[in-house]
Amino acid sequence: MALEDLNEQQLEAVKQIEGPLLILAGAGSGKTSTMTNRIAYMISQGIAPYNILAVTFTNKAAKEMRDRVETLIGARRGMWIMTFHAMCLRILRSHAEEAGYKSDFVVYDTSDQKTLVKGIMKEKGISDREFPVNSILASISRQKEKGRTPDKVDYSQYHDTRSKAVAEVYTEYQKRLIKNNAMDFDDLLLNTVLLFKGHPDALKEYQDRFQYIMVDEYQDTNRLQYQMISMMAAQHHNLCVVGDDDQCIYEWRGADIRNILDFEKDFRDAKVIKLEQNYRSKGNILAAAHSVISHNKGRKKKELWTQADDGEKITYFRTESDRDEAEHIASLIESMVSKGREYSDFAILYRTNAQSRIMEERFQREGIPYRVLSGMRYYDRKEIKDAIAYMRLIVNPSDDLSLVRVINEPKRGIGAKTIDKLSAYAAIRGQSLLEGLSDPDGELLASLGTKARSGVSDMINVIKYIRNNKDQMSVEDVYSTLLENTGYLKALEDAQTIEAEARIDNLMEFKSVIAEYEESVDTPTVEEFMSTMTLSAEQDNYDENQPTVTMMTLHSAKGLEFPVVFMPGMEDGLFPGSRAFDSEQDMEQERRLCYVGMTRAKELLFLSSAEVRTRYGRTEYTRESQFLREVDKTLLKGDAVYESRSNGTGAGGNVGVSTGDFDGYSSGKAYRPFDSLSYAKRETRAHKVGASGSGEKFKPGDKVSHQKFGQGLVIEDTGSIVTVAFDSVGIKKLAKGIAVIKKI
Ligand code: ATP
Ligand code: MG
Repeated sequence: MALEDLNEQQLEAVKQIEGPLLILAGAGSGKTSTMTNRIAYMISQGIAPYNILAVTFTNKAAKEMRDRVETLIGARRGMWIMTFHAMCLRILRSHAEEAGYKSDFVVYDTSDQKTLVKGIMKEKGISDREFPVNSILASISRQKEKGRTPDKVDYSQYHDTRSKAVAEVYTEYQKRLIKNNAMDFDDLLLNTVLLFKGHPDALKEYQDRFQYIMVDEYQDTNRLQYQMISMMAAQHHNLCVVGDDDQCIYEWRGADIRNILDFEKDFRDAKVIKLEQNYRSKGNILAAAHSVISHNKGRKKKELWTQADDGEKITYFRTESDRDEAEHIASLIESMVSKGREYSDFAILYRTNAQSRIMEERFQREGIPYRVLSGMRYYDRKEIKDAIAYMRLIVNPSDDLSLVRVINEPKRGIGAKTIDKLSAYAAIRGQSLLEGLSDPDGELLASLGTKARSGVSDMINVIKYIRNNKDQMSVEDVYSTLLENTGYLKALEDAQTIEAEARIDNLMEFKSVIAEYEESVDTPTVEEFMSTMTLSAEQDNYDENQPTVTMMTLHSAKGLEFPVVFMPGMEDGLFPGSRAFDSEQDMEQERRLCYVGMTRAKELLFLSSAEVRTRYGRTEYTRESQFLREVDKTLLKGDAVYESRSNGTGAGGNVGVSTGDFDGYSSGKAYRPFDSLSYAKRETRAHKVGASGSGEKFKPGDKVSHQKFGQGLVIEDTGSIVTVAFDSVGIKKLAKGIAVIKKI
């Protein structure tokens, strides 16, 4: 999009480059596009890219913006377009010492954090049944978001056992992070703010440099991010923030809607520009989203309009079960694809990650290509995590967590007890494990048996060798050398199982991740590769060029757009979540999430719910979402299943909209792959039979048949998972209750 395509307000915002500026506008009004054009415009006005900082919410958004700026103006050397976390990482790398770290510090992801906290809780005898690890971590995170380091947490202030536990774990957790020369995500923000506060020189360096600062998705910044940006902009005052108070969805992660609502107060001479034309969605979609969000009280009133025609009404359907819902969505997609749409036109946006499973199962069965965006999914695999742990040791020898992970991978005869003993020895000497074990005559190695000792020394030598030579090696070399010389790959090859083979495949596939990185930068380094990897978020895996349906949570869909959007699970207790019914604030936040979801759709929007849904292993009747009731009825077309249920007993009695408008289904002119009423009844019954049948217990050696894979032999049945060797496709693990397997 070039300058001449912008509307009047957008152009005004682009040209207003001096002084504080708030671009406040609804979804799809071109905020991000305006920001991109603004950068291009600044450069055309002779401002050096070096002096520009643009902060985005995800790496993907940053990349997109970089690409767009590049097509607009060509090279963009020295310009910082990146996420908050990536920016902090850069700043802290160059000021690590001042921040109290060594410059090769690593960043821990969520699972590292969990491992660390779990270990600490065990040592301190704090039960993770009573206080789940995740909730402790969330509390620690909240402290950090408020800028409270452990020394600022006053023990005596707490009387309940939980707060005490949090304080105790937090203190130890932070100690370990520092000892391991590691930071978590919150530390990146907090340490940057602390650095700026404690080292005015460091701050000055960035104030001088970044004469023009821009922040996208500003409504979701937390207090620390806000502080950081205000400090950086304090000298030049050229701060432009872009946001929509109706799309603030990260309050639970510390996002502070005040940051946007108070911008005019905080920056006295701020100019406010509103964008009101929506370029993304058809009229009905926009109107429906608006009818929902207008139920929120504390919002800045904005009206969006569009030149686009009304388009189709929003389709709502209620099926008998969550399986039917998935099946119906699959059929709708197939039917639209047969009429010429691409799979990549579709997105399925849900409230909780758990909802994808049933959808995936159905899509697999139908052979519909799909991708689930769940961030670390790939990196969560054991073999990839092992490989990453080895790589981390190359970057950061203080990383005990990683060493513990791989010290017995492949098997070197080191058990948990030995690891505890080694850790204790190292701790006494104030060394990291790797340091301790590196000493050939040291106590640590001496304490091991002969076999373990030689295995561990070999491993340490490989790590040492690569550490010393890594500057002459490509990232891929480092990776391959580690896999081969530590014996990791060989152990898998020797195993000769299908599982091991799959692991090898994954390890090889990881090379393409490395290759992609090496191609994307001028001077690739292992250090940088490791950091960019930890920082990648869910949305970063989204590639609109992939010919697949995309599934993701509503939260990760921010900023994106799709021709056709499905929002399944529109049920009270699921969306909005049950907590929202006790708190108006939570309810408003859920409503904003609903608004974000609906406004992702360009042409068609489908909302749906199921009368019966299985969650956490329990099957329950549901009530239709409050948000459905809030959608302007005249914009909906319902379906017969829904109509008959809402008047009947079943679900939640007479709750819900009565659309009174079935033009889509009764006239058959809309997408109508089948008669939903009879379909739902028939299928649900069939499923129920299937469900009880799947409770069947199999013995190893039982002959079974599967609808898709054909015949096979049962290897194992754990109760929930059956492992079957199929004649056609080899060994598959199948979830019982989903897969229909019959004994023959
Ligand atoms: P969100 O609130 O979801 O982040 P946004 O306000 O950032 O949305 P964009 O993503 O920038 O909106 O733009 C939405 C769509 O509108 C994009 O497809 C973009 O190309 C298009 N668009 C924006 N401005 C114009 C314009 N002036 N003329 C034509 N299309 C436009
Ligand atoms: Mg945007």
